[in-house]
Amino acid sequence: VEPDPQAGAAVKAADRAHVFHSWSAQGLIDPLAVAGAEGSYFWDYDGNRYLDFTSGLVYTNIGYQHPKVVAAIQEQAAKLTTFAPAFAIDVRSEAARLIAERTPGDLDKIFFTNGGAEAVENAVRMARLHTGRTKVLSAYRSYHGATSTAINLTGDPRRWPSDTASAGVVHFWAPFLYRSPFYATTEAEESARALQHLEDTIAFEGPATIAAIILETVPGTAGIMTPPPGYLAGVREICDKYGIVFVLDEVMAGFGRTGKWFAAEHFDVVPDLMTFAKGVNSGYVPLGGVAISAEIAATFDKRPYPGGLTYSGHPLACAAAVATINVMAEEKVVEHAADIGETVLGPGLRELAERHPSVGEVRGMGVFWALDLVKNKETREPLVPYNAAGEANAPMAAFAAAAKKNGLWPFVNMNRTHAVPACNVTEAEAKEGLAALDAALSVADEHTV
Ligand code: PLP
Repeated sequence: VEPDPQAGAAVKAADRAHVFHSWSAQGLIDPLAVAGAEGSYFWDYDGNRYLDFTSGLVYTNIGYQHPKVVAAIQEQAAKLTTFAPAFAIDVRSEAARLIAERTPGDLDKIFFTNGGAEAVENAVRMARLHTGRTKVLSAYRSYHGATSTAINLTGDPRRWPSDTASAGVVHFWAPFLYRSPFYATTEAEESARALQHLEDTIAFEGPATIAAIILETVPGTAGIMTPPPGYLAGVREICDKYGIVFVLDEVMAGFGRTGKWFAAEHFDVVPDLMTFAKGVNSGYVPLGGVAISAEIAATFDKRPYPGGLTYSGHPLACAAAVATINVMAEEKVVEHAADIGETVLGPGLRELAERHPSVGEVRGMGVFWALDLVKNKETREPLVPYNAAGEANAPMAAFAAAAKKNGLWPFVNMNRTHAVPACNVTEAEAKEGLAALDAALSVADEHTV
């Protein structure tokens, strides 16, 4: 594609004049004008091409512009662009069937939303109505979305400006051995102490007041902390003991990212409700949802479910989901994600950690990896303080700038960079990404002590 800086400048000018961006001080941002994207790459108007190690916001699980999914959206647009949610529509039925076939256990009913936050809102509503209780427990170091309940559930600084005391949310610490809240030194210790802490929290909050516990199966934005063996099964047991609904949020971890269709499969746990979005259709058209167990679905057999959305199960979004899931199955994308994690990304990132003093820990699986960047490997002091901004965040800003200069668009959150490419990233692309990270980490190394 020919560079066209003038067109890029016009796009940027209209953006700055009229687009109000998420999570940003509007006067301080300088968004890159993007001219196009394909597969694992996107490009700007100035002739720069970037390898996308962020998958957008960790959602383009089959990369950009997959021709089969684009064609399916075009065909659906020509056939029936939209139809109200109360009717039975072929693509909606088929999307629900394909998802239910893959969700664990008896999570066989699908409530469709437009994205992850609405999925979380509705999962909480279902849990509250099912149990007749109001309180919900969620973890620090989590993200569940930006709508009212979802942002209150979130366990990171994005919650603070939107905290409402009436949300009925209580936070607890989930396991994270590298920065253990429990002073644990082994995974077994971390798991046992985290479970005891959760049960103590429940005892002091009052078991009969708690409707649900929600956890990201593998926390994503918060740092890709794979739970230690036994933890999620332990949470399942605790939920059963106290009649609490167990919600797993698979908005980021689902649809191939961990090398399984759903991350829950790694841990042999079946939640009562599971939220999904993002990878369900590679984000080509907004779609999310809740997969519902037979028991909770039965609560609403004779009693109306008091929730809905104009675009619930939108035909264009469902057509994109059907095509995406079929592509993932036909092209063995999930198996590929597992394999590239095991053979290329995991070993490659661990090798970087050996050579770079700024890499404290490498963790993850599939195409879901975090590098925990530190000032010092012994003390594990984060490369930048928690929630750092401005000058305090300069080392991470320098790292990100170096990555971009090397043609890699990096995912950066606090003191971490995440390697989260598309699930169908090729071996050559993965190696290209590792080489660019290598160069950028040398810049981070300059800030170690
Ligand atoms: N849950 C998790 C685990 C997420 O990662 C996100 C988004 O990043 C959400 C929920 C919210 O999804 P959405 O932005 O589609 O509302």
